[in-house]
Amino acid sequence: MRIDILTLFPKMCKDVLSESIIGRAQKKGIIEIECHQIRDYTYDKHNRVDDTTYGPGMGMLMLAEPIALCFEDICRKLGKRPRFIYMSPQGELLNQNKIKKLSTYQNLAILCGHYEGVDERVIEEFVDEQISIGDYVLTGGELPALVLTDAVCRMIPGVLSDNVCFEEESHYNGLLEYPQYTKPAVWRGRKVPDILLSGHHENIQNWKKEQSILRTKKYRPDLLENRERYNGKEEI
Ligand code: SAM
Repeated sequence: MRIDILTLFPKMCKDVLSESIIGRAQKKGIIEIECHQIRDYTYDKHNRVDDTTYGPGMGMLMLAEPIALCFEDICRKLGKRPRFIYMSPQGELLNQNKIKKLSTYQNLAILCGHYEGVDERVIEEFVDEQISIGDYVLTGGELPALVLTDAVCRMIPGVLSDNVCFEEESHYNGLLEYPQYTKPAVWRGRKVPDILLSGHHENIQNWKKEQSILRTKKYRPDLLENRERYNGKEEI
């Protein structure tokens, strides 16, 4: 998979994505991520990327043309058109199902807005979908783009050591993950549940499933309702 990020702050994205698991996956050539400076596609001597809004409004809006030129250049260089996503608080709320779908694309391009956002016409002309990371407003689309990139990339085979890593995790199957423990077996008087030390594989698997359901009931009952709506009532 390849992801192209269009931003006014490419270093901010690149620095984060070059670390840890996503950084290693890029070095191994499993995923490719390019961060593009939209300012490089300006056409006036001041390298303007924004201007005041029409109609009485506050603040500045990103110009359509530099974004258009940047996206068109990416398409030309790739020889194809990536699915184009605009990170926006007005978009569809991001969840694990959406991440699963996006991880099936070979090419994604992600637009990060800034200031008051971007000229609506660039969205109409190019954007395939708008995605929000939550019902709150951030100063820019870089953090949302990083969230999306990280979540999508870890679903790509080979990025994590084993697919089980994400298949057992929270949200993959609509449940939260069971509680986990590491060494020592007793920490400040708190013991790891005996069953996890028993070595009985089947009992441990049943315990994990039960805990996962109990946790979801406790912290996110809405997830169980959604699961029932899509999968029918299960024996839980
Ligand atoms: N004026 C816009 C509005 O009210 O819908 C908000 C603009 S916001 C200050 C600047 C940029 O941050 C947006 O263009 C978008 O790219 C990004 N952004 C802010 N909050 C976001 C969120 N919850 N999810 C995704 N992107 C967000």
